[in-house]
Amino acid sequence: MSIRTKTIAIGVDLGGTNLRAVAINADGQIIERITYPTQAQEGPNVVIKNIVASVRTLLAKIALEDIKIIGVGIGAPGPLNSETGVVIKAPNLPGWENIHLRDIVAKELQLPVRIENDANVAAFAEYWKGAGQNSKVMICLTLGTGVGGGIIIDGNIFRGSHFIGAELGHITIKYDGLRCSCGNKGCLEAYVSATGIVARTIMAIRSGATTILTDMVDNDLNTLTSELVYQAAVNNDSLAQSIMHETGTLLGIGITSLANIFNPDFVIIGGGVSKAGDMILTPARQEVQKRAMPGIAEHLKILPAMLGEDAGAIGAAGIILYNETAKISD
Ligand SMILES: [Zn+2]
Repeated sequence: MSIRTKTIAIGVDLGGTNLRAVAINADGQIIERITYPTQAQEGPNVVIKNIVASVRTLLAKIALEDIKIIGVGIGAPGPLNSETGVVIKAPNLPGWENIHLRDIVAKELQLPVRIENDANVAAFAEYWKGAGQNSKVMICLTLGTGVGGGIIIDGNIFRGSHFIGAELGHITIKYDGLRCSCGNKGCLEAYVSATGIVARTIMAIRSGATTILTDMVDNDLNTLTSELVYQAAVNNDSLAQSIMHETGTLLGIGITSLANIFNPDFVIIGGGVSKAGDMILTPARQEVQKRAMPGIAEHLKILPAMLGEDAGAIGAAGIILYNETAKISD
């Protein structure tokens, strides 16, 4: 066994419902993984206990002889200061304000710990071991309930001057558009997130569009999901197809702004909505081709993410391993 395969890091993805923890070797391979309930409603102390317990449970599953654990990376929601290790605020974790997450976990586990924003670690994972490898500038958009963003430049996570940067879901694509969860109008997130897709579909149905979706949800639009809109589109429903096509077009408008600023090699699209694949990526690419400054689109690849739901945990371990592996030789 080489020194590389003996060196591992732990990555923890702190979600609102579940914690996902993985053990990864220096080649980026997952050795072991577990999920653990977050119990977010119980407050920060219980959540932190669960983080520590998840890592201990994970380590108990690994044969530890000859293995060196170089640290624990935690991807956490909300604005957080990765230098001081403090979570400033986590909107979906009740009671999380100015929590010294890094130091508390490091003391409990007696291991070096780093914390990083969850969207940033998901982006870093795609740069390190996923669809954006070998890029100089890579942008990641995660289309889920909201829209998360991450920017990796020369292998470094771009955070902004106060750790709040790369909120790419909140770039404006329509000046007087739909209201967004952030309070602004016309944000990318209000249109291309799962929530945005459902909202636009319901508006179209209420203004008289006919669709198989009303039967699919038994006339209860409260149960409509973006997944069902996608399935209806696959089944040639014309409203669902036009909603999905429009989602791609609007995504392309957002990507154009990012591409004009950053001139990236890759824009990687992840999250549940990205399962629609070329149904949204083709119109997005066409829109960027039409709108971007000369030279931008030719060098840009818009690709689906590769790492799926493990991206956050892989990236959290990756921020520990990436710099270390440069020092390790076989
Ligand atoms: Zn917004």
